[in-house]
Amino acid sequence: MSTCFYCGGDLTERQTTFVYEEAGEVRIVRNVPALVCTQCGEKEYTQDTTHQVLSLLRQPPRPKELLQIPAYELVAA
Ligand SMILES: [Zn+2]
Repeated sequence: MSTCFYCGGDLTERQTTFVYEEAGEVRIVRNVPALVCTQCGEKEYTQDTTHQVLSLLRQPPRPKELLQIPAYELVAA
């Protein structure tokens, strides 16, 4: 079993939501398989998966649904 690059925790395969932002426009792709760290939650995508997601976003099909996403900002103290 592979371990997390950051914390050394165990990685487990899960379906995740891939978030992509470009020029202020946010898109998400659901059901993207990733190896997720059980300790820190870091996600690792295989090259194949990343390639699939990016080519889908390059020529996006009609979206499954349109969401309103609340946006927040962290203000430095
Ligand atoms: Zn980790």
